[in-house]
Amino acid sequence: MSLFVRTIVRKRDGAELSEGEIADFVRGVTEGTISDEQAAAFLMAVCCRGMTTAETAALTFAMMRSGESWDLTPHGFVADKHSTGGVGDKVTLVLAPLLAAVGMKAGMMSGRGLGHTGGTLDKLEAIPGLRTDLPREEFDRLLETVGCALIGQTDRVAPADRRLYALRDVTGTVESIPLITASILSKKLATGAHAVVFDVKTGNGAFMSSPEGARTLGRALVDTARAAGRKASGWITAMDRPLGEAVGNANEVEESIRMLRGEGPADLRENVLLLGADLVVEAGLEKSEKGARARLNAALSDGRALEVFARLVRGQGGDASVCDDPSRLPRPVSKRDVLAPEAGVVSRLATREIGLLAIEIGCGRRTKGDGIDPASGFRIRKKPGNAVRKGEPLVTVELGETASPNETFFRRLASCFEVAPLGTPVSSLPLAVERL
Ligand code: URA
Repeated sequence: MSLFVRTIVRKRDGAELSEGEIADFVRGVTEGTISDEQAAAFLMAVCCRGMTTAETAALTFAMMRSGESWDLTPHGFVADKHSTGGVGDKVTLVLAPLLAAVGMKAGMMSGRGLGHTGGTLDKLEAIPGLRTDLPREEFDRLLETVGCALIGQTDRVAPADRRLYALRDVTGTVESIPLITASILSKKLATGAHAVVFDVKTGNGAFMSSPEGARTLGRALVDTARAAGRKASGWITAMDRPLGEAVGNANEVEESIRMLRGEGPADLRENVLLLGADLVVEAGLEKSEKGARARLNAALSDGRALEVFARLVRGQGGDASVCDDPSRLPRPVSKRDVLAPEAGVVSRLATREIGLLAIEIGCGRRTKGDGIDPASGFRIRKKPGNAVRKGEPLVTVELGETASPNETFFRRLASCFEVAPLGTPVSSLPLAVERL
């Protein structure tokens, strides 16, 4: 029996694998000496049998070592954040420049839209001219000159993850907590941040819809990052409704610019402060969460955070005039309100379905090669707990040039908003569900 087959059989039978066995497997994946069939069988065995904390850490570190490991020490203390993804989640766009504005470095390798959730890179690229496919040298230059950088994944970071992720996608093994943990963290750890804050979403628009699943994933992320010697903390936050009002790309940039001016929706501000305060304390800039929040709030109110964002946009080749005049962002060619059929109180939003409908008007991709229509999106007008009059807008649909949804689309969107008689008790999650 070959080495790889023995490892697969041992995992299939529920044994705990050694660090060496896991490292050999990942080397085989990276060097191509293990076949797709064997790698897929291993993934299924992990999916069914699970992994211990030690095995998850060994898998994460081996995948991290499959490519470049960046040393960011010359930049001082560098912070990063990871969100498990949601609808309207534009926190990174605000948090990265905000951290730089209070004297930290924030270096983040972000992703594109995945499933029903939007991606930071797609949002940023709604800014005319802005590039995210920047090499390591540009990342370093931006950290030094601007204090923050938001770039896309490079082929050199965690190449084992790319092969394994593609196999997971076609073998029903995406939803395995050890595999998700190793996939996320191998990339995060390889890019060298000294502290990472995790934002694990829960609710009907999250990948981990139950609080128990979110807690298990969140703990695995925090514990494994700490085992790698990084500072790590995290929050479980609400995704039973979109975050903020804008869902899309250009409109989410516009909402982020408003937030960076000290305006914008309260839930977005709270999410930014929750994560930012942890990092400010971990960086040693403030001793308490209260002090950290005051420091962050001041940089939002006095324009420093927006100034850094403008420098970041310029540094990544984009048109920074959008920061003074967001109407220079791609604009919708038409708009249409979806109206409340009855008076009452909004009792539930079908958040995942809202994310999927956003993809249909070009906010995300149905298949890998699809283009994005940056001007398309939604403005959520009512959320759970809000009273609504008959005929009042629940959501405004903004359509870019390429989007022409039919009436079924509008009916499906209307049915995402459940309206109950006034006085009906509404249960929705608090923004901060729990600290990890
Ligand atoms: N994001 C990743 O990078 N990997 C996963 O497995 C899930 C989300």
